[in-house]
This record gives sequence, structure tokens and C-alpha cells, in this order.
Amino acid sequence: MDLGLSGKWAIVCASSKGLGRGCAEALAEEGVNLVITARTASTLNETADFIRDKWGVEVKALAGDITTPEGRADVLRACPNPDILVNNAGGPPPGDFQDWSTDDWMKALNANMLTPIELIKATVNGMRERKFGRIVNITSAAVKAPIDILGLSNGARAGLTGFVAGIARKTVIDNVTINALLPGPFDTDRLKSNFETVAKSTGMPLEQLRKERAAGNPAGRFGTAEEFGAACAFLCSDKAGFITGQNLLLDGGAFPGTL
Ligand code: NAP
Repeated sequence: MDLGLSGKWAIVCASSKGLGRGCAEALAEEGVNLVITARTASTLNETADFIRDKWGVEVKALAGDITTPEGRADVLRACPNPDILVNNAGGPPPGDFQDWSTDDWMKALNANMLTPIELIKATVNGMRERKFGRIVNITSAAVKAPIDILGLSNGARAGLTGFVAGIARKTVIDNVTINALLPGPFDTDRLKSNFETVAKSTGMPLEQLRKERAAGNPAGRFGTAEEFGAACAFLCSDKAGFITGQNLLLDGGAFPGTL
């Protein structure tokens, strides 16, 4: 299927590794030029070189923290009129809500709710004027089925989801869609660090925990960044203009509901 994306420009936030990188690569494969971001310049530049070499698209690598006004301003200066925006940032740490301060909450809300909203605000009007735009927010399966130790994530991402549910029905008239991808367990550094926390608190060996968790998923494994990126590319395609305000769960069937 031709996704109709060749020559378009995408901002893919937090994309030197993991799910963001999966999205960047899948879009590059469709001929999309990219602005990619991460805080660590060395990893980011390696990813940019890899993508340029493999798919021959233009890639601007902007090292910076996307959760800061400066980080966002740099990205928007490099690409003021994106066709596609993929919002992503690191997830908040796990823990017990009794230990979290207002400052912990503000950090989580800033990274996983307010940063995507700021980037949507900065780009959506231009997309509407140009009559094409695709915005994909990477959130979490925790939006659908909260995970107790990830309370900061449950709360902040639910706020973003509620906000998007309102505006996604306003922008689609101009062929601008806004959707979310909800990752369940994907084999990335983030999953590894969550498992390390659980292994430490339960005393279970890390490798045993990994094996048990993978076996416990209906698919018998974790998802891959490539699978995640493919779903993102489809939502960004010209074929997906009638899909907006949706929250697509990618979890190997772990959520046990009918809908
Ligand atoms: P990952 O493998 O740890 O990759 C995170 C990427 O984001 C890296 O490129 C990292 O680079 C970059 N990054 C982190 N914070 C940033 C910031 N403030 N500004 C710019 N770049 C930043 O994580 P992942 O598994 O892909 O997870 C992506 C998102 O999905 C996270 O919010 C995570 O909580 C959520 N999620 C993941 C899973 C899963 O199973 N993997 C499940 C549910 C939800 P630098 O560190 O160099 O900045």
C-alpha cells in the first residue's frame, strides 16, 4: 500500500531509541523527511546517520529536552510547518503515590501532557490551513488499564487523552487527525528499567521476570519498535483521514476486554 507520504516532513519527538525511533524509521521508509530529537547528542546523531544512509531522506537531528520551552523552540525553528507530529517523551518513574511531591507531579504533567499540548498548539493551525496534518501521541496502555506503580503516568496521560478527545473532532474537517498509540509491553530500554525496579522490589531475578512477563502476554512475547512504527505510519498516511480521536492499543491482546 502506498501511504502517500513521500516528501512530507515529520517532527518525531524523543526518537533516538525505542518507540519514537520505530516511528521515525517507519516514516522514513515511506519517504518522509524528519526532525528527530533526544537529549543525548551522540545516540541521536547515530540514529540520524542510520536513517539517512538507509532511506535517503533528509534528517535534522536536534539534541535537546523536548519538555523545555527551549527544546521545543529549537524543533519548531527547524521545522515550522510539519505535516506530521509524533509526540513522545520519557515516561515518569514508577513508585508509590504517597512519596510523590507536587514537583514530581508537575514534572510528569509537563512531560506527558503539557509538552504534547504545546506542540499541538504550535503546529495545528498551519496543518489546518494546508489541509493535511497527522498528529500521533505516544501514550500508554496505562490509559486504558492503569498500572498501580505508574500512577504519575496514569494521571498525566489520562489528562492528555481527555484534551485530545475534544479537539480531534474539531480539526478533522480540515484533514488534520489526532490519535494516540497506547503501547503495552514493548522491548525497549524503558521496559528494561521498569523491570529492574520490579526485580529490585520483589527480589525476583531480572531474566526470570522478563521470561514470565513475556510468557504471560497472549502473544507470548513483547512487541517490537518496528511493529509500533508501522502502526504510526499508517495513522499518518493519506489513507487514515477518517480516523481521529482514537486510542489504539498495541499490547498483544493483554487487555481482556471485548472493546
Ligand atoms: P526508551 O526506549 O527509553 O526511549 C526513549 C527515547 O526518548 C530516547 O530516545 C530518549 O533519548 C528520548 N527522550 C527521553 N526523554 C526525553 C526528553 N525529555 N526530551 C527528548 N528526548 C527524550 O523508551 P520507550 O520504551 O521508547 O518509551 C517511549 C514512551 O512510551 C515513554 O513515555 C514510555 O513511558 C512509553 N511507554 C513505553 C512502553 C514500553 O513497553 N516500552 C509501554 C508503555 C508506555 P535521551 O534519553 O537521549 O533523551
